[in-house]
Amino acid sequence: MISVSVRPRWLWASLFALVAALLLLLVWLSGRYDASQVQDRLERDALEVVGTLRSGLMRNNQTLQATFLVAGRSRAEQTEAWALSAERFLLDHRETVRMEWRSPEFKTLLQANSPYKSPVFSQYSHDTYLSELMQTCATARRLGTAAFSPSYFVPMPNGMGMEVMDVCLPVMGLGAQAAPELRGYVLVSYALQDILDNLIPNDLARNQDISFTEGDGTRLAMRGAARRTLRNFTAQQLLDLPGNTLVVRLESWRDAPGLFPNVLTALVMGLFVALMVILWLLSVDMRRRLKAEHELADALAFRKAMEDSLVTGLRARDLQGRITYVNPAFCQMVGFSADELMGLSANAPYWPPELAEEIMRRHAVRLAGNSPPREGFESVFMRKDGSRFPVLIIEAPLINAQGVQTGWMSAFLDISEQRRVEELSRASQDRLQATARLAMVGEMASLLSHELNQPLAAISSYATGSLNMIKSGLSGPADVEQAMQRIALQAERAGKVIKSVHDFVRRRDQARERTQPQALLDAVLPLINLQARKLHVQVQVRVAEGLPEVWCDRTMVEQVILNLARNAMQAMDQPGVRDRRLTLSVQPMAGDEPRCLMFSVADLGPGIAPDIEHQLFQPFFTTKAEGMGLGLSLCRTVVEQHGGTLQYAPNAPRGTVFSFGLTITHHATID
Ligand code: ADP
Repeated sequence: MISVSVRPRWLWASLFALVAALLLLLVWLSGRYDASQVQDRLERDALEVVGTLRSGLMRNNQTLQATFLVAGRSRAEQTEAWALSAERFLLDHRETVRMEWRSPEFKTLLQANSPYKSPVFSQYSHDTYLSELMQTCATARRLGTAAFSPSYFVPMPNGMGMEVMDVCLPVMGLGAQAAPELRGYVLVSYALQDILDNLIPNDLARNQDISFTEGDGTRLAMRGAARRTLRNFTAQQLLDLPGNTLVVRLESWRDAPGLFPNVLTALVMGLFVALMVILWLLSVDMRRRLKAEHELADALAFRKAMEDSLVTGLRARDLQGRITYVNPAFCQMVGFSADELMGLSANAPYWPPELAEEIMRRHAVRLAGNSPPREGFESVFMRKDGSRFPVLIIEAPLINAQGVQTGWMSAFLDISEQRRVEELSRASQDRLQATARLAMVGEMASLLSHELNQPLAAISSYATGSLNMIKSGLSGPADVEQAMQRIALQAERAGKVIKSVHDFVRRRDQARERTQPQALLDAVLPLINLQARKLHVQVQVRVAEGLPEVWCDRTMVEQVILNLARNAMQAMDQPGVRDRRLTLSVQPMAGDEPRCLMFSVADLGPGIAPDIEHQLFQPFFTTKAEGMGLGLSLCRTVVEQHGGTLQYAPNAPRGTVFSFGLTITHHATID
C-alpha cells in the first residue's frame, strides 16, 4: 500500500524539479544571450566611437595642415592670416580650446583662445608643460606630421580643471638652397571633455557613457550621466593617435534583461506554465487512475475470495476445449492442482477410464456449439487416488464483455453425500417394505390357521364322534349321516376360507389395464438408475419401435421388472466385474402374428451357479446377507398370474437373462 502511494509522489516531485530546472536554465541562457547581445553592441559602438574620434581628430589635423602650412608670406601678412585662421578654426571646432603659434625656440608668437570657453591657461601658463610640448613636437618632426601629446590636467580658476591634450604641427618652409627649414610650430589644445561632447554623434552617446580613461581605469573625461545599475556592461578600445594612445571606455547603463526581456523568455515562460498545467492535469488523472486501480483490485480480491470460498467447483474452458481456469474447490474435489489441470483438453486425469469415451462424446458435442441442458447433467469423476464420485455438472457458454463466446464455464457439485442419503433412505424403505410384506404373510398365515382351525377341529371332532358311534353300534345310520353332513359343511367352510384368500389375490385382476411397454419401463427407470449410479452400472434400454399395448396389472409387472433389474445389478456388484451393463429390452415374441411381448433383463454378472438352480424360485432362498429370498418367487407368481412363465438363460458373453412374456391387448381375454 505504502510503496504504491509513495513512489509516484517521488516521481512526480522529481519530474516537477527537472522541468523547473530545465526551464530556469532556459531563462538563464536566454538572459545570457540577451546580455551577450548587449555586450556585442557595446563592443561595436566602442569601435565606432574610436573610429569617429580618430577620423575627427585626423580631419582636424588635415585642416590644420592645409590652413597653417603657408610659407613665403611677409611676417605681418602671416601674423594677420594666422590670427584669422586660428579664430575661424576655434570657432568651427568646439573641441579645441586654444591655439598657439610658437617659434622654433618655443617662444609663443601668437595665441588664440576658444570663444566658447574662458581661457584655459590663465592660471597656469602653457609653458608649465613645456617639456611635454617639446617632446611632442620632436615626435611630430620625426613623424613628419602633426603629433598628439599625452593628456594632462590643467587646473582652472573656478576650482575645476580640465584634461587637455595638445597637437603639435611643425610648420616647415624652404630655407637657403631650398632646404627645408623649421619655421615654428602650431599648437592646438584639445579639451578631452569637448572632444567627447562634440566629435561623437548623439545617437552613439544616447544609451551609454563614453569616457577617456587611464590604464588603471581612472576617468579623464566622460560623456554621460555615469549611472549605476545592477549590471554594467563595459567595452574598452584604444584610440591610437600619432604620438599618443588613449583608452576609450563605453559603459552601457541599459538595465539587465527584465523578467520578459524578449520573445524567447516569454515563450519559455508560456511553455513552463503550459507544462505545469499539463503536469497538474496528468497528476490529477493519475490520482484518479490510481483510485480506480485500487477499487478494481478490491473488487478483484473480493471476487477471488468469493471464488475461493465457494464449495462449487468452477472450471472454464476455451473454444478449443482447453482448461483456462479452475477454482480451489474444483482442485480439492478432484485432488489435482490447478497447474496440473491448466491447458489440458481431452483425456483429463479426472475422467474415469470407463467413461472417457462418453465424456469425449459430450465434449465433442459441446465444441460443436450445442448448448448443454440448463438443469445440468450427472456424471462420474475420478479423484487422483482413483476413487470415483458422482457430480452434477451445469455448463453454460462463457460470453465476454463484447458479447462474444470465448469458451465454456462449468460448475460442479459433488453429489456423493446426496447419493448416500438417497441410498440410505431407499435401503431403509426396502427394508420397511420387506418387513411389511413379511408381516402381511405372517398375518395371512395366522389368519388362515385361525380360520381353518375351527372347521378342521369341528371336522376332526365330528369324525371322532361318528367313528365312536359306528364302533358302539348304538346309533343308527341317520346319526352317522348327520355327522357326515356336518363334516361336509365344515369342509365347505374351510374351502370358503381358502377361496376367500384366493379371491383376495384374484381381486387384483380388476387392476389390469392397457399399458404401453415403454410406460412400464419408464415407471421403474428412476429407481433403477438410482441404484445403477451407486453401483456404477450403465443402464441400456432397448424398446423396439411401434410396439402394441399389453394387458397387465401395472404395479405388479413394474415390481417384477424392478426385482429382476435389482437382482441383475447386485449380481454385477462384484470386484471382478469391470463391464457393468444392464440391458432392459422389450420385443415382440417370435412368430408371424405374435401374441406376446417379451420383456427381458440381461446382466453381465457371474451367472447362476448350477448347484443353486433348482432352488432359485423357492421362497426364502437367498445367497445374499441382506436378502429375503422372496423376489424371484413373487415374480414367478405374478408372471404366471398373467399367463406367462418366468425363464432364465445364460447371457453372452456372460451373465444371465431373465425374461417373461405379456399378452398383447387384442389377444387378451378380458374378463
Ligand atoms: P434375493 O434377491 O432376496 O436374494 P431372490 O429370490 O430375488 O431373492 O433371488 C434368489 C437368489 O437367486 C439370489 O440370492 C441370487 O443368488 C440368485 N439370483 C437371482 N438373480 C440372479 C442373477 N441375475 N444372476 C445371478 N444370480 C441371481
